[in-house]
Amino acid sequence: MPILKVLLNDIEAELEIVKRKQRTEVEDVDLWRGKAGHKPRFSTTETWMQIRETGVKYTWGGSIWFSQATPKFAFITWIAARGRLATMDRISRWNPGVDSTCVLCKVFQETTNHLFFECVYSSGIWEKLVKGILGNAYAYKWDEVTELISVSSRGKMKRFCLRYAFQITVYMLWRERNKRRHGESPMPQHVLVKMIDKAIRNKLSLVQMKGIKGMNFSLQYWFETRE
Ligand SMILES: [Zn+2]
Repeated sequence: MPILKVLLNDIEAELEIVKRKQRTEVEDVDLWRGKAGHKPRFSTTETWMQIRETGVKYTWGGSIWFSQATPKFAFITWIAARGRLATMDRISRWNPGVDSTCVLCKVFQETTNHLFFECVYSSGIWEKLVKGILGNAYAYKWDEVTELISVSSRGKMKRFCLRYAFQITVYMLWRERNKRRHGESPMPQHVLVKMIDKAIRNKLSLVQMKGIKGMNFSLQYWFETRE
């Protein structure tokens, strides 16, 4: 149909003129580079994906952001897992004169792996909390612990107690470390253990009250592992 073709060509030519005209009349706009080219709308996710360093994908992400987790504990653990906590080994890289000794033991250099839980102060606390759950499988080194908490074959109660204990211990140790750096007096290990233990009990009784499936006897389970 040649007439239609001519018509379409005319429309196309007309549109081209309009487009060109618009281009000179509109003001410059900021465009954000996204996945599918440039767009006027800003997207946090897409921009983040553009500027982030592409790292390894953490296979145990699911063992951090699990159901019934406490966000502030999960968040610190996530930051630690990404190696992004402002530990002294990292700080000393951009501030070479700084003292990078661990404030908890005052012996070794402070790194993520040292704080969680190679440090004698940290491992003492971690051991008192989870030795009863783990028995012979007990571990205190970061890589081994993260491996342990990502195993999904354990019973639901055991897995929950372990993951929750892990996150709250990371959080409380980081808090203790910050307090000491700000000149506060050190908290003895047994006090910190008591505080963490109490917080875990509160969480478990809450989970039980909510009637979460498979968690009916979790508080009892926790008590049994504490003896
Ligand atoms: Zn230490």
